[in-house]
Amino acid sequence: MKSGVFIERDGVLNRARVERQYQVSPLTFEDFQLHQDAVPLLARLKAAGLMLIATTNQPGLSRGYQSRRELDRMHDSLRKTFHLDDILVCPHDETDHCPCRKPKPGLLVEAAFKWRLNLDRCFVISDKWQDAEAARTAGCTSLLLESPWLGRVHRDFVLPDLGAVVEKILALRTAKRPMTV
Ligand SMILES: [Zn+2]
Repeated sequence: MKSGVFIERDGVLNRARVERQYQVSPLTFEDFQLHQDAVPLLARLKAAGLMLIATTNQPGLSRGYQSRRELDRMHDSLRKTFHLDDILVCPHDETDHCPCRKPKPGLLVEAAFKWRLNLDRCFVISDKWQDAEAARTAGCTSLLLESPWLGRVHRDFVLPDLGAVVEKILALRTAKRPMTV
């Protein structure tokens, strides 16, 4: 079975505005600014044999203020820029009580089924507690970037930047690899 890295979209792969201490997702392709610094870092994870999968809650789809067409344009660009294997979206509002809106682990479970991933050997990267909680429930290792949104849930590592996160994942992969004779 394969291993993968689940990466929260807003704030990690693209910029997210902050309003009243919350991140606000970009709604149009024109507002969608990618973190180009992340490109070579994610390439190192991919070169190490890890699948790259972005995950995102986009309740604007069910609330009606996010157009599917604009989201598709954003995600085409995201996929091409970072060479992502997949992008998984929860389109629901919290009142839908779906199993996929993070902090629930549904997107991770869906990806594991679709791509035959061993969740025990997968990693989650985010700047928010919801992803750490989803990782804990699914059995993945969580690596959070320092931010105002980490909350108090269990997380495995908190690191200052994406470069440090990538180094940590590569070190953990080396440590876990069984010795071959
Ligand atoms: Zn959902």
